[in-house]
Amino acid sequence: MDPHPPAPGGPSAPADALIAVDVQNDFLPGGSLAVPGGGEVLAPLNAWLAAFAARGCATLASRDWHPPDHCSFRARGGPWPAHCVAGTDGAAFAPGLVLPHGCEVVDKGTHAGAEAYSAFDGTGLAQRLRARGVRRLWIGGLATDYCVLATARGALAAGLAVVVLTDAVRAVEVAPGDGARALAALAAEGATLRAGRP
Ligand SMILES: [Zn+2]
Repeated sequence: MDPHPPAPGGPSAPADALIAVDVQNDFLPGGSLAVPGGGEVLAPLNAWLAAFAARGCATLASRDWHPPDHCSFRARGGPWPAHCVAGTDGAAFAPGLVLPHGCEVVDKGTHAGAEAYSAFDGTGLAQRLRARGVRRLWIGGLATDYCVLATARGALAAGLAVVVLTDAVRAVEVAPGDGARALAALAAEGATLRAGRP
């Protein structure tokens, strides 16, 4: 039993942290791997980021940060068009994303031979959050059915409580319904789904 479970309700420091997953130009409309409605996450996510920062809670932002020959690209036999090549405009955070002062950037997928949908995959993130006393991770961003799903599962596997901000995520939907199925799966695995804004 955890003798100090996170307080219910709103976020409080240091137990609660928020991660904005992959809100990058290539995943927004006009990008090489655009998520339908991806830009709609910006307003709610910015509101949550500001709310966390105002309460002294940690904020993080992950980004796909791929080498030009990444294994997930079609040219390498992967499933996706080239996207989020490190240092390019496509890999930059969306201009409309307002990251609070002190927001930690988490680069993932940085090795050509390994895919990393989860911000916990090969990044040391679990250890850093644990060291900061974080016990509950709130998650928004792109895309519900890939990197949000994988990051939420990575957090659960690391022993963190998870809150998925359902108004601050959007799905790729390679198959229709993938987004709803991802959220249902996460709820079944123990994540809390939370609609609305702070
Ligand atoms: Zn990628």
